Amino acid sequence: MEPKYIFVTGGVTSSLGKGIICSSLGLLLATRGLRVTIQKLDPYINVDPGTMNPYEHGEVYVTDDGAETDLDLGHYERFLGIPTTQENNVTTGRIYYDVISKERKGEYLGQTVQVIPHITDEIKSRVRSIGDSGKYDIIIVEIGGTVGDIEGLPYIEAMRQLRYDVGRTNTLSIHLTLVPYLKAAGELKTKPTQHSVKTLYELGLQPDVLVCRTEIPLDHGIRQKIARFCNVEVEDVIASLDARSIYQVPLLMKEEALDLRVIDKLDIRAGKPKLTDWNQFVQAVTWPDHRIKIALVGKYVDHQDAYMSIVESFKHGGAVNNCEVDICWVSSDYLNHQNAAHRLEGVSGILVAPGFGGRGIEGKLAAVQYARENRIPFLGICLGMQCAVIEYARNVCGWKGANSTEFDPETAYPIVDLMLDQKQINDKGGTMRLGAYSCRLEKNSLAEKAYGKKEIRERHRHRYELNNRYRDQLKKFGLHTTGLNPDRDLVEIVEAQNHPWYVGVQFHPELKSTVRRPHPLFVSFVKAAFKYAKEHDRVVYLQHKKTVSATESEKK
Ligand code: GLN
Repeated sequence: MEPKYIFVTGGVTSSLGKGIICSSLGLLLATRGLRVTIQKLDPYINVDPGTMNPYEHGEVYVTDDGAETDLDLGHYERFLGIPTTQENNVTTGRIYYDVISKERKGEYLGQTVQVIPHITDEIKSRVRSIGDSGKYDIIIVEIGGTVGDIEGLPYIEAMRQLRYDVGRTNTLSIHLTLVPYLKAAGELKTKPTQHSVKTLYELGLQPDVLVCRTEIPLDHGIRQKIARFCNVEVEDVIASLDARSIYQVPLLMKEEALDLRVIDKLDIRAGKPKLTDWNQFVQAVTWPDHRIKIALVGKYVDHQDAYMSIVESFKHGGAVNNCEVDICWVSSDYLNHQNAAHRLEGVSGILVAPGFGGRGIEGKLAAVQYARENRIPFLGICLGMQCAVIEYARNVCGWKGANSTEFDPETAYPIVDLMLDQKQINDKGGTMRLGAYSCRLEKNSLAEKAYGKKEIRERHRHRYELNNRYRDQLKKFGLHTTGLNPDRDLVEIVEAQNHPWYVGVQFHPELKSTVRRPHPLFVSFVKAAFKYAKEHDRVVYLQHKKTVSATESEKK
């Protein structure tokens, strides 16, 4: 079958959940036996989000091949369960970078290099190269931003042209809009959708399907009105009702027959959707029997998108344990030895988050110490692991002033240091240790038991690492290195003995947790925290009326 392209644009406002709609549609089509991938086109001029502040951009999602990408790729992987790569995320910066490099090489000799056709051709070639790979039946292309944004215009133009290049029957345009409810008028309003669709017309695109985000159900009259004004059939007006969990959205979209409309319009032959396991997961995630608190200690706790994959991994790991993880957000900026007991009161697990720079480090160290001394299950991720080693060196080994050279280049005990191959690097973009690397696990370690295998591959994003000079001494003091990179002998995992569950990982397990394959370390961490909660009377027992299905109850 020829590849089919589905373009997804957004209108009216940002944050409507385009990434979730793309992921949900992708899942519905994939469970029908189609080979689906999703590509995100981002209109900013950064080559990738790697150099952006988490306040600006949220989490940077790293793929196996070491691309630093938009956090929506995390949703694509969590929903579809298949890894993405660099080609799944294109930015305006990357497009211009490549066009300008070609110009310098003389590839456009004699021509004036312009947005149309050179930039739009480059965009189209990025989309087509996924389709031409033969690996996929369906390529869902999510266009970042909102229609009408100046920076998004070349993408919309490229989509308009692509519809002719590959034939109208091979493309579909889905537009996501908002249908707000005006309390004072007691009515749903369709005007913003009409305007947004009009903007698309002006750019030469007629949407085939409208997905309307709404707080309350859309009745037939409203759907008809939208259909009439926007040149679509009434069946092509799909309501996307606010859901309790993002994982319910595929089920809501199925009830609205979004996948059927797509299959019909693209004239695809597809099997029946298989969603039994997805339904079970949604039940488990929405109606667990228990709840426990786990602290997430980091410096971006007021901007939780920065920890998107960690939050989702807790949902996956929680569902396996029939236990909701109530994340207790603890700012490392305001945490110290005096207030740690108070701020971390009632938690049954402590996760110290990844990060860069010295701000909040002392707070993170206080959190590690509190977890270690009180035998509370602890997971340190990347910088969180480095903090764990620093705390251990200072307070267990007695090495005063032990530190990472990231924060104290003159420290007497450089327990965490710049990787050798990082010392020559000056450029900041795309130069960290990025992507998936293998790691060999020590027999009988917590990690080996959790994973149930000897060798794993996990994703990295860091410049510093545990200094091998201190490895043996740390071991003598009870901090074992239980995961090593076989090629470069780098320490990837540490575990403290004499503690029920204390694990630090140099990699990012959260980037590989999916609905169908919850990450083993998160499953094991939540299990240990649940055990701790039971022993310390910290479990909340939940009682739900399970008679109504999750999605039905949302609609009422
Ligand atoms: N700043 C640390 C490093 O570069 C940790 C990075 C991280 O937590 N991702 O090594």
